[in-house]
Parts: sequence; structure tokens; C-alpha cells
Amino acid sequence: MTEAVVDELMTFPIFRDIDEDRFPGNTPLRGILLNDTRVTTYQPGEIVVREGDYGNSAFLILDGHLRVVLNPNLPQNMLGRLSVKKKGFFEALGQLWTNNWRPEVRDPERYQNTQAASSSGAMAGVYLQDIPAILDEHQTAQLGPEMIFGELAALGRVPRTASIFAETEARVLEIRWQGLRELRRFDTTWKEKIDLAYRRNALHNALKEAPMFRHLTGEQLKAVEDATLFETHGAFDWHTSYKRMLAQGREMEHGTPIAREGDYPDGILMVRAGFARVSARIGNGERTLTYLGAGDVYGLEELYRAWKDKDDSIVLETSLTALGYLDILRIPRQVLEEFVFKEMEPPQTKLRHLAGNEISADALKEWAVGRRFINGTRAMLIDLNRCTRCDDCVRACAATHGGNPRFIRHGATFDHWMVANACMHCADPVCMIGCPTGAIHRSISDGSVVVNDDTCIGCGTCAASCPYDNIRLVQVANQRGEPLVDGEHKPIMKATKCDFCSSNPGGPACQRACPHDALRRVDFRGPDPFRGGYQ
Ligand code: SF4
Ligand code: SF4
Repeated sequence: MTEAVVDELMTFPIFRDIDEDRFPGNTPLRGILLNDTRVTTYQPGEIVVREGDYGNSAFLILDGHLRVVLNPNLPQNMLGRLSVKKKGFFEALGQLWTNNWRPEVRDPERYQNTQAASSSGAMAGVYLQDIPAILDEHQTAQLGPEMIFGELAALGRVPRTASIFAETEARVLEIRWQGLRELRRFDTTWKEKIDLAYRRNALHNALKEAPMFRHLTGEQLKAVEDATLFETHGAFDWHTSYKRMLAQGREMEHGTPIAREGDYPDGILMVRAGFARVSARIGNGERTLTYLGAGDVYGLEELYRAWKDKDDSIVLETSLTALGYLDILRIPRQVLEEFVFKEMEPPQTKLRHLAGNEISADALKEWAVGRRFINGTRAMLIDLNRCTRCDDCVRACAATHGGNPRFIRHGATFDHWMVANACMHCADPVCMIGCPTGAIHRSISDGSVVVNDDTCIGCGTCAASCPYDNIRLVQVANQRGEPLVDGEHKPIMKATKCDFCSSNPGGPACQRACPHDALRRVDFRGPDPFRGGYQ
């Protein structure tokens, strides 16, 4: 971004009408525009955002027109996504004999018709073909100058809810989440716009899905919505500070305190996105009791008891700390007392008693929370007491994936457990933020995080973002083993990672191949990941 473009942006009413004096000296409005925004020109048919992508920016249309696809959604292949077909039993067996003996062999023809075969730097546009047919077959709506979109995904850590493409040539201002957060903080018009969009599009659904509000009438739910506040804590790009923490040899980050043991609860906190640690003071230290993820609620027991016993002296028995990014709803006590508690069964769990557990019983949990493995829905956990280092798992993975294993049998260890460097198919897949072609995405069919080899341009954004170092860039070759190169004679690189054997019948080859039952794919959000395995 240049000063000249900032000058031009300041002529648009949405920036011109901002009171610049409300911004602090170290975060001036012009500074935000200069550092946290960029202007991109899209050509007709070019995709601006894809439904299902994770993003860290919002968009303001400067000129031209875009179209949002409302119904039905665009087919996955049009968005550059994989549609994975499960192999039959004999097909899966046959690949053991038909695999090329050279690793990472690709048919060069595959990349002929994709706009995104090269890693040569420039932003890779993905275009929709046959726009008239899309307009005929899908319900769409036009978006014009000065309209803002994408703010929910940018601030709320939720996937984009619709695909938007350029109808005419259009100039669009992209605002990174940092800039958006500052605009919301220091300008009331931006705050109102963003908050209104949040209430209109996200809050209603979040509350409606929560069991404790299911019995409410539309009017009562509206009253709860109106009273609810929303907050974000910590950094959206938590993976950056996490990697720094590991590089400095620290395993546990302090995090951002949200609520403290001993405080009076003024409402419940409901997690919308991110993770938070619940802890209790033990002696001079702080002990992790559990962690909360999307949909979990904090402070309910104490508030309920205070209401039931008419005892206003009841205080919070635990503390809550944001682990990296946390997006929460704060639902005030008054509306809960008026609409919810009367109809509710007393909450069952009592966290404080967990503090009486043996320290050793909780040590694994403490470790998993500290290392953020709680993000993993299908982490590779190896019991080192059982593992004989035979590498059958690695060979099975290589045989399923073109001769190169998609994981490394190495990783963080605690006691006799190892979390190997294999994609964990995270609840919060930060690797997906910023992929310019949408090649890395969550599979609609089974929820695993996969890379579309055809549209990956090997830029490495995902590999740099994965906090657990579980993505590798590989150079691909033809059948003769000669490296494939792009039009500028640069090697074609592709991002590779565990795809949870999406196309294999019977699940992940690594787990099935282990003759000693030492390797399991586990969901760290489950009650005891160190016992169960992924079914
Ligand atoms: S690549 Fe990394 S961040 Fe992405 S889902 Fe896998 S483990 Fe999580
Ligand atoms: S390297 Fe990663 S971020 Fe870059 S295009 Fe490929 S999948 Fe997307």
C-alpha cells in the first residue's frame, strides 16, 4: 500500500467521515490503512472468497460489482476443491503393486488446465467459467460499491459462509483482522456496522443451537440476543506466538486472563471459537482442570447456585484464560434468571473437585493443553512402551501416498506418549488461513483437512502457518523422475500432509498397519484421548 492510495481511500465517505482524533498516536487511521490493507483488482469471474474457507480479512468494495452465491452453493470442484472417491477394496490392495517406485510422481497433464500450477509468486486467481450458467442455476445477489463483507470470518474465526465472485472488473479493499479490530475499536460507525452484522448473522444461530436456550420462544430468545455482549481476546494469529514460545523452549503460555477465581460472576461465558483453560489455585500455583472449546460454557454452576440459594456472595471457583485466540459471548445474569434458570435442570459438573485429583493423573492433560494438542481431532498418538520402531506405519503411509509418507514418526513426547508430526485435522485449522487458491480446505465428506494437488501453487503459506509443523512442500516429478517445472523454469512444489487416507476404505493406513497396537488417531477433545482411538 502506498501513501497515494491511502490519500485516495481517505476520499471515500466511509473513511473521510471518521474522526481521526479518536485514534491514538501509535495507531493512526492512515497507519492502519497503510499497513493493514491492500487494494486488489478482480477480473470478471474471479473468485474473491470461497464458502468454507478460513480468512483473516474483511473486504470493502471500492468500485465495480461482485456477486454473492446464495443458493445452492457452488459445486466443490468449481471452487478448486477435491471431491474424494473412496477406493474399492481391490483398488486399495492393487495400489501396492502399481505404485511408481519414484516418490511424488505426477502426470504433467494434470497441471495444464489449472491457473494455479506455478509457485511463481504473484497472487493466483481462480476463475469461474460460464458465468451466465451460474446466474441461471444459482440464486445470487449483487454487491456494489461501499459494501463490506467477510467481517464475521475475519473477527469471529468462522469459515466464510458464501462464495463471492467479481461480476465486473472490481477494485476491492482487503482489511486484515488487525486493522478491522482497530477500526471497530476507535470508530463508532465501524463498530456499529460490524456489531450489527454479527448480531444479524451469527449471534442468533449460536444461541439457538445451545441446549439451554432451546425452550425459549422467539421473543425470549430475542431478549437474550439483545442483552448478549461479544468479545474477542488474544491474537487471531495465535500460531505465531505459539511457535515463538516453542522456539524459546517454553511449553506453557500465560494466555489472556478472562475471569478470575474469587470474582463475582456477572453472567456466563460461552465459547464461540478458540480455546480457553479453566484452572484453580493450588497452593502458590495454578492447576489446569480442563479446557473449553466451541460451544462450552463457563460460570454456569456458580450463577445457578447464586440464583437458587439467593446467595449473592457466591464467587467463581475457577479462573478462565484464553489460549491464543478466543471468541466468547457474555450472557448477563439478569436474562438467565428471567428466562433460563426457572426451566433448567441444575448443572451437573463440578470442576473444583477435579483439583483433588492426583497430580500425575492430570499431567498429561496439562501437557496436551500447554502444547495446544487439544486442537487435534485426529492426532497421531504413539505409545512408546508398545512401539518397537519397526516403521510399518510409515511404510503403509508411503504405500498409500505415492511413495512418500505423509508424516514423520517423531514429535513431542511426554512420559511414554508421543504426538507424531502428522496433521491432526484441527478444530481450529490455522493452516487454512490465507491459502491464495483455497487448495487447502476441510473436506465436506468427512471433515478432514486436505490439499487439492491440482490447485496448490506451493507458496508455502500453509506450511508456515501450521503451528505443529505438519505440512511439507515437495518437488514433483514426471514418470522418468525429472522435476516438473513451470513456465519460468522454476520447480513445481506442492504442499503435502496427512489426508487421513480419505480415499481409503477402512480408515487411516498407519493405524491399521501397526502390528503392536501402539499407534492411534485420537480426538484430544474427547474425555480420555490416551485410552480411546479414532473409530
Ligand atoms: S496442517 Fe497443522 S494446523 Fe492444519 S489441520 Fe493439520 S495440524 Fe492442524
Ligand atoms: S502451499 Fe499451501 S497455502 Fe500455498 S497454495 Fe498450496 S495449499 Fe495453499
